[in-house]
Amino acid sequence: MTIDFVHDVIARKRDGDELDDARVRAFVAGVVDGSVPSYQASALLMAFVLRGCSPDEAVSLARAMVDSGKRLDLSVLRRPVLDKHSAGGVGDKVTLVLAPLVAACGALFGKMSGRGLGHTGGTLDKLESIPGFRVQLSQGDFLRQLERIGVAVMSQSERLVPADRLLYALRDVTATVENDGLIAASMMAKKVASGTSAVVLDITVGAGALMRSLDQARDLASLCRRIGDEYGLTTRCCYTAMEAPLGRAVGNRLEVEEAWEVLCGAGPSDVRDVTLELAAEALTLSDLRVDAAEGRARAERALASGQAAEWFERWVAVQGGDFKPGEYHRLATDDVRAPVGGWLTRVDAGLVGRAAQLAGAGRTRVDDEIDPAAGVLVLHKPGERVEAGEPVLRVCGRRRDRRAAAVRVLADALTVADDEPAPAAVVLGVD
Ligand code: URA
Repeated sequence: MTIDFVHDVIARKRDGDELDDARVRAFVAGVVDGSVPSYQASALLMAFVLRGCSPDEAVSLARAMVDSGKRLDLSVLRRPVLDKHSAGGVGDKVTLVLAPLVAACGALFGKMSGRGLGHTGGTLDKLESIPGFRVQLSQGDFLRQLERIGVAVMSQSERLVPADRLLYALRDVTATVENDGLIAASMMAKKVASGTSAVVLDITVGAGALMRSLDQARDLASLCRRIGDEYGLTTRCCYTAMEAPLGRAVGNRLEVEEAWEVLCGAGPSDVRDVTLELAAEALTLSDLRVDAAEGRARAERALASGQAAEWFERWVAVQGGDFKPGEYHRLATDDVRAPVGGWLTRVDAGLVGRAAQLAGAGRTRVDDEIDPAAGVLVLHKPGERVEAGEPVLRVCGRRRDRRAAAVRVLADALTVADDEPAPAAVVLGVD
């Protein structure tokens, strides 16, 4: 690709023009083959963020990203394989519960997952906090496991959607993640390439999410659906609150432990509510011929009976993991206390996510090593009463300096008020 062509594409977008399919494709292909250097790719990404990305451009981007790599073919299974994707959250361990739960209900759940980026956690890092858990599966292993136990979660392969890997890494460091078209194209290209038949999107809204309002979340959903329609991929969208962290545990092994509690029929009600909502919707897209009410009832029974927990154990064992609940190295902790007594009205998910990352649960650079047991425990959730000086957040981590950095970030994370806040719903809608 010539320098002039790339320059012209960037200039057109900078000036507010809509890019046609051919230009978007050429650009994405150039990013993957290295003929478009990262500074030009970053300039175009920023132009999209500042000028907007039209629905047609989002579709072109998604198509170009899907075509940048291979697509898995799951048709030999002759059954729909269900998938789920979250727009990013803090304390979001839903996949860990949903995957075995859907399989325990008799449907197939197969997913490619990513690692944590920025302040949001990634399912792979959570699974790898279980000693021995293998996230790298070949296509053959993935298929065989789905056939055998109905559930498989694996890492994104180098060969699927390489364009998203390259572009997402650039977006992460150039403040260009926040654009609905770029987000929709990135999310849906991965779903299409993974070969699944139907996807339930968890579109998170609030301080710890990329979407700051429900209207914005609905716009993202309609873009995702439009891309899904292009490929015949059924797309259902659930909108969920991400003002405060989901549940009480943020950090890889801490979240696995909490997911286990939910799988055993206990655990925090918000994690359970979001998971059941997604499970109900997912089951309607399976071949079990159930509506959402019946899907939910089956999922509730699987949690209450212990069947979902058994499925989790089986899944983890098949992927090589050695999971013993409660058996992990507890680290040193530092507490963040309520500044005054009253009603806790805000625990800022974005700041808690950032603090967990600093404590060692996430990476600030791609090659940073994760501390599996590091994170933040939310001892009190919004809507609970706290006494002045009472611990509200507990930072766990091996390194004192990292814990101290996390505590500094959390200085502004809490609001305590005199009046009891109105109860806030966690599931905001489905369509
Ligand atoms: N999740 C993704 O997969 N991509 C984005 O761009 C944002 C969230």
